[in-house]
Amino acid sequence: MTTSGVRVRIAPSPTGEPHVGTAYIALFNYLFAKKHGGEFILRIEDTDATRSTPEFETKVLDALKWCGLKWSEGPDIGGPYGPYRQSDRKDLYKPYVEQIVTNGHGFRCFCTPERLEKMREAQRAAGLPPKYDGHCLNLSAEEVTSRVAAGEPHVVRMKIPTEGSCKFHDGVYGDVEIPWDAVDMQVLLKADGMPTYHMANVVDDHLMKITHVARGEEWLASVPKHILIYQYLGWEPPVFMHLSLMRNADKSKLSKRKNPTSISYYTALGYIPEALMNFLGLFFIQIAEGEELLTMDELAEKFDPENLSKAGAIFDIQKLDWLNGRWIREKLSEEEFQHRVLTWAMENDRLKEGLKLSQSRITKLGELPDLTGFLFKSDLNLDPSAFAKIKSTPEELLEILNTVQPDLEKILEWNVETIEAELRAIADRMGKKLKVIVAPLFVAVSGSSRSLPLFDSMAILGRSVVRQRLKLAAQTVATLVGPKN
Ligand code: GLU
Repeated sequence: MTTSGVRVRIAPSPTGEPHVGTAYIALFNYLFAKKHGGEFILRIEDTDATRSTPEFETKVLDALKWCGLKWSEGPDIGGPYGPYRQSDRKDLYKPYVEQIVTNGHGFRCFCTPERLEKMREAQRAAGLPPKYDGHCLNLSAEEVTSRVAAGEPHVVRMKIPTEGSCKFHDGVYGDVEIPWDAVDMQVLLKADGMPTYHMANVVDDHLMKITHVARGEEWLASVPKHILIYQYLGWEPPVFMHLSLMRNADKSKLSKRKNPTSISYYTALGYIPEALMNFLGLFFIQIAEGEELLTMDELAEKFDPENLSKAGAIFDIQKLDWLNGRWIREKLSEEEFQHRVLTWAMENDRLKEGLKLSQSRITKLGELPDLTGFLFKSDLNLDPSAFAKIKSTPEELLEILNTVQPDLEKILEWNVETIEAELRAIADRMGKKLKVIVAPLFVAVSGSSRSLPLFDSMAILGRSVVRQRLKLAAQTVATLVGPKN
C-alpha cells in the first residue's frame, strides 16, 4: 500500500537485449519508491512496433526480476491502472490527440516521407539541425477535412511556441532552460494510428498517476515537448529527474562495442544479482570507504536522490568483480552458495543442453569438464597459439572475426537455425566456404578446436557472451598480424 502517494516507474522499450542501463534506472526508481513508501511500476513502451518483440519483453521482465527488482503493477501482474503494455492501450491515446488538435494545439500533417527526407537533406546541407519546417501548419480547415475524407495518410504533430523558452526544474540538473526554437513539432500520432513514445509516455504517466519520472539523461531534451503536452491536456507534470548515463572508463557512453552491456552477459558469467545491484546502487549514495558492501535494504536506507552527480556513473568492471567476490565470500552461506551455483549452471538450460550434446561424444563422464567447460567459463584465456592449427592467415582470421561480429547483431531471434543461416549467408557474402568461416569461430567461442557443435554452442552461450568472446578473439588474433608496411 502506498503511504506517501509516491508512484514511480521503469518504462522499458522491448527492442533489444536488456541493458545494464535499464537495471540502473530501474534500481533508482525502486529505491526511490522504497525510501518513500511508494509504488514502483513497470510499463512496457512498445509503440515502435517494428522493433519491439514479445521475446525481448519477456527478457526484460526476467532480467529485472533476476536483479531482485519487484514491481507492484505491471503487464505480468496487472494493477488498477492497466493495461501496462502500450500496444494494449492503443485506442486510449487517440481521444487525447484529438483534444489537442481540436483545441488548436496540434495539426494534421500530410507530408510524405520523401518530402520530409528532402527537407532534412536541405537542412543538413545548410548546416541546420533537422526540424519540421511547418509545411502543413497552416492548411485551411476545409483542405484538411477533404484530404482526411479522401483517405490521405497523415500524422498529427504538436504546435510549438514560436518565441521564448521552456523553463523547468530537474531533480539532477537543477533549473533548465531550452529555447522553443530548438524543439521540433513532434509527431504525436503516427499514420498507422499508433501514438509516438512522447504522446503515450505523457498520457500513461498521467493516467498511471506517476509522481516522479526518473530516467536517463538522453530524455532531458524531450522535457519541453512533454511539458507542453501536459499543458495542452490541462494536466500537472510530474517531477523530473534525469540521471547521468553510465559510461565506460574513458567517459564514452556505455556501449556494447567497448563493454558488455547486456544483463544476460553478467548473469551468464556468474555475477550474482545482489552484487550487481550493490554496484549500481553505490552511484546513488554517499558512503565512506570500507562501507561498500550493502544489501538492497541498506541501499534504500542510505539512498540519497538529492545528491546525484551529473558527471556520469563509470561502469568499472574491476569494482564490480571486487564486489561480486566479496558477496560470494562474505554474504552467502555455504548452502546459499551451493544453491546459487546449481541455479547458475542450470540457467537457460545450459547444463541440460551441454549434456545432451556431450552424450554421444564421450567414453567416460570425467571427460565432461574438458568438453563442456567452455559453456561455463567466464574467461577462456585464449592464447594466440590456439589459432595456429587453422589454415587461414592471421589477416584472414581477423577479417572473418571482424565481419561475423557485427553481422550476428542482425539476427532477430537467437537460436541454432538463425545462427547457422546467418553464418552461411556471411560465408556466401565473403566468398568463402562455411568451414573456413567456422574454424576461427570454433576456437573463439570454445577455446579449442575439439569441442561441441558450433551453432548449438553459440545458441547455448547466448548472444552477449558470444559477442564478447568474438571481440576478445579478434584482439588475440590481432597480436599475430604483423605491423602494416
Ligand atoms: N521507453 C523509454 C526508454 O526505454 C522510457 C523513457 C522514459 O522513462 O520516459 O528509454
